[in-house]
Amino acid sequence: MVKTKQSSLNDAFNSSIVDGIEKTNEEKRNKRLQALIDKACKNSSIAKETIEAAIAKGTQICFDHELEGVNGCFIPVDNMILLNENAKDDRLISTLVHESRHVLQKDDCDRSYNCKSYISNVRAMEADAMATQCAALFQFASNDLNEPLVDFVSAHPVVALAYSNSLHKEKNIEKAKEAAFKAWYSDKYYVNAYDKQSCDYLSYIGAEFDKKSFKKNLSAEELAGQYPYVPVDFFKSRDANTVSEEVASRATNIEKFHIRNFFSNIFDKSSVKVSADDFYVRDLNGNIKPPKNKKNEKQKVNVALLKTKGNSR
Ligand SMILES: [Zn+2]
Repeated sequence: MVKTKQSSLNDAFNSSIVDGIEKTNEEKRNKRLQALIDKACKNSSIAKETIEAAIAKGTQICFDHELEGVNGCFIPVDNMILLNENAKDDRLISTLVHESRHVLQKDDCDRSYNCKSYISNVRAMEADAMATQCAALFQFASNDLNEPLVDFVSAHPVVALAYSNSLHKEKNIEKAKEAAFKAWYSDKYYVNAYDKQSCDYLSYIGAEFDKKSFKKNLSAEELAGQYPYVPVDFFKSRDANTVSEEVASRATNIEKFHIRNFFSNIFDKSSVKVSADDFYVRDLNGNIKPPKNKKNEKQKVNVALLKTKGNSR
């Protein structure tokens, strides 16, 4: 098609209108974002501290209209927080604190973690981000900005109640955060959804045949070091270390059939040790089985005792 002078003029006119609309939309988005940041920082010292620290790390915060099923996310490789443009402001002000907290955590993409460590690390990061978010929302509410907390309570009542009860009793924000952190683990369907996402990522790493994968262990002490307001014993507890049968089985198979174990027990992998053996496992009826590894530990102790007896003779 040959363009006439008139059609070229029309195109130029139309594109300048489109550019104009885009510019206005961009300005509107920037204004909306700045208003959210200002409102969060004005109404909560915790939100202010968290968002400003994230911005100081060079993190870009932007709206995205294509985020599906989530209110926002932090992308560590791009150092960018995306907020779902279609979500309401009462939700986004809360998400902004949550995602900003993720910016300040240690990077979770350590590909050398074993399956149990990776899953435990993701859990702790989410519990910490939610505990921080919850603490900020209670500060909002104390400044008569109630809607974000009301919205949060409808989605995470157990976490909000744990925080509220502790704050009422102890009058201590760090203690209340600890209560919220621990309560995060009690929403087993929510936790299981994160565990399954972790398994997806671990399967992807496993398929890359990197011999370094699944070697590193993250101890309860190391985890507690990252979240000083949570006592180390919690990271060793049954509450923090129970997974569904599906997650236990997936995490077991990912390590068992990894290239590193290719030559060990080539026809029968049942005796290959995996980090998922340290998990408590919840069956479909809600019964919780103790970690397989604890049984092994007991057996080891018994063998050691027998040997000692033998030597003392
Ligand atoms: Zn999160």
